[in-house]
Amino acid sequence: MNGVATLQNFGGPSILVIDDEERIREGCRKVLCKEGFDVETAASGEIGLKMIEEKYYDIVLLDLMMPNLSGFDVLSQVKYLHPDAVIIVISGYATIEYSIKAMKNGAFDFIPKPFTPDQLRVLVTKAIEYTRALKDIANEKSRMRVLINHLRDGVLAVDAEKRLVLANPAFFQMFGCDGEAKVGLSVSELCGGSRVESLIDGALSMPEGEFREHAEELVCEDAGGLPEAYISASCVPFRDRAGRNLGAITVLHDITAQKKMEHIKSDFVSMVSHEVRSPLNSVLAQLHVITDGLAGEVTPKQMEILGRASEKIKSLLSLSTELLDLARVESGLATIEKERVNPAEILEDQAAFHEPAAREKQITLELLPLPELPPLFVNRRNFEEVLSNLIINAIKYTPPGGKVVVSAATEDKFLKITVCDNGFGIAAEEQDRVFAPFYRIKNEKTRYTIGTGLGLAIVKSIIEAHGGFIRLQSEADRGSVFDVYFPLADS
Ligand code: ADP
Repeated sequence: MNGVATLQNFGGPSILVIDDEERIREGCRKVLCKEGFDVETAASGEIGLKMIEEKYYDIVLLDLMMPNLSGFDVLSQVKYLHPDAVIIVISGYATIEYSIKAMKNGAFDFIPKPFTPDQLRVLVTKAIEYTRALKDIANEKSRMRVLINHLRDGVLAVDAEKRLVLANPAFFQMFGCDGEAKVGLSVSELCGGSRVESLIDGALSMPEGEFREHAEELVCEDAGGLPEAYISASCVPFRDRAGRNLGAITVLHDITAQKKMEHIKSDFVSMVSHEVRSPLNSVLAQLHVITDGLAGEVTPKQMEILGRASEKIKSLLSLSTELLDLARVESGLATIEKERVNPAEILEDQAAFHEPAAREKQITLELLPLPELPPLFVNRRNFEEVLSNLIINAIKYTPPGGKVVVSAATEDKFLKITVCDNGFGIAAEEQDRVFAPFYRIKNEKTRYTIGTGLGLAIVKSIIEAHGGFIRLQSEADRGSVFDVYFPLADS
C-alpha cells in the first residue's frame, strides 16, 4: 500500500480520544473508525476520566495540554484505574522533556501535533500489537494459575531472595501453613529451618553450568512423634537467559499411600522369609545327618542327589536372608542404628576379605591408595554390605584374567566410592533395570552365575536410606563402573 500503514482489527480494541480540540478529536475518530475500531471521544480530562471509570479502554489517546485537569493528571489516574491500558500522548508542545516525563509516568508513546492520519495509524498499530502481547501474557498467566491451583502436588516458587512468588493451595495444605500467606513472604517466615528451606538453599546456590534436582523424602510426624505423612520434595532453580538463578521451584508430592503399601509389603516379606528359615534349616540339618552317614549307609548315587538338594536349600536360605535384609532397609530399621565409621578401614577390610575369591578366579582385585577420608555416619553393617555386594558382583561378572579396582575420594559433600571392573558390562537398556528387585540379566555369559537378583536392589535401598545415591556407567563387553555417594558425617 505504498508505505501507508494499514491497521488490522485484532478483535476490536476500544479506543478513547481525550482532546479539548474538536478538530483533533474528530480527525482521530474518523481515521480510526474507518479502520473498524470502536472509538469514543471526550472533550476534557474530567469527561475522559468519568468515561474511563465506567468502561475499560484498551488504548487512550490523550492530549497533554488541556485546561483545568492536565493530561499528566489524567495519565496518572488512568494508570491507577486501568494499569493495562495503553496511553498515547498527543501534544502541540512536543518537547523531549515532555515525552520523557510522559513515558516515565507510564505512557506507551508520544505523537506530536500536527500529525498525519498515516502517522496516527502507525502508532495505533504498534499499540494494538502491544496490547495483544499483553493480553497473551495475561491469558497465559491465568492458564498457568488455574493449572497450578488444581494440581494435587504442592508447588512453591520463590525468588532469589527466598521470597514467595507463587504457592498453590495443595502446598499450603501439605505444609500445614496458613493459606493466607502472601506473595513476598520470606521462606523463613513460611517454613523457616525446615528441610524445604535447605532444598531451596541448595537449588539457589547451584552454580550456573550445573542443573540438578535437589530431592528428599520428608516425614511428617503426628503429636506422638509417629510418622503421619510422607512427602517427596524436589527443588530446581529457574534461570534467566544468561543462566543466572532467578529463584527456585519446589514440588511436593504426597507419597503416604505408597509408603504404607511398601511397609505392608516389607512386613509381609520379612514375616514369610523369617517363617521359612527355620524349616529350611532343619531340613538342611537332617540332610546332613544322612550325608554324614549317621542314619545308615548312603550309596554314591543317593549322596549326589542329597548334595544337590542341600545346594538348593542353601540357595533358598540365602534368598530369604537377602529378602530379610531388603525388608529391613525398606522399613527404615537399618538406618536407625547409625554410628561414626572410618571408611578407609572398612574399605581395606573388604578388599582383603574378597581378595582370595578374586585370586581363585584369576582376577586382580586392587584397592587404590586412599586419600585422607573424613568419617561417615552410617549403619556399619549396611555400609559393609554395599561394598561387599559391589565387589562380589564385579568378581562374579568379570571373566578370569580381568581386573577389579576399588577407589574412594571426597566429592563435594559426599564420599564417593568407585568399584570398577573390565568384565561383561551391562547394556544401556538394562542399566536402570538391574537395580530392581529380582532382576537378573539372562544371557550366555551370565547363565551359569548363581544369584537372586536382590543384591543391587539392597545396595540402592541402603544408599538412599542414608541420603546418598548410586551411578552406573557401563558398556557391554567393556566393563562397569559403580559410583556410590554417601553424605559426609557433618554435611
Ligand atoms: P545377582 O547378582 O544376584 O543376579 P544383583 O542385583 O546383584 O543380582 O545384580 C543384578 C544383575 O545385574 C545381575 O544379574 C547381573 O546381570 C548384573 N550385574 C551386576 N553387577 C554387575 C557387574 N559388575 N558387571 C556386569 N553385570 C552386573
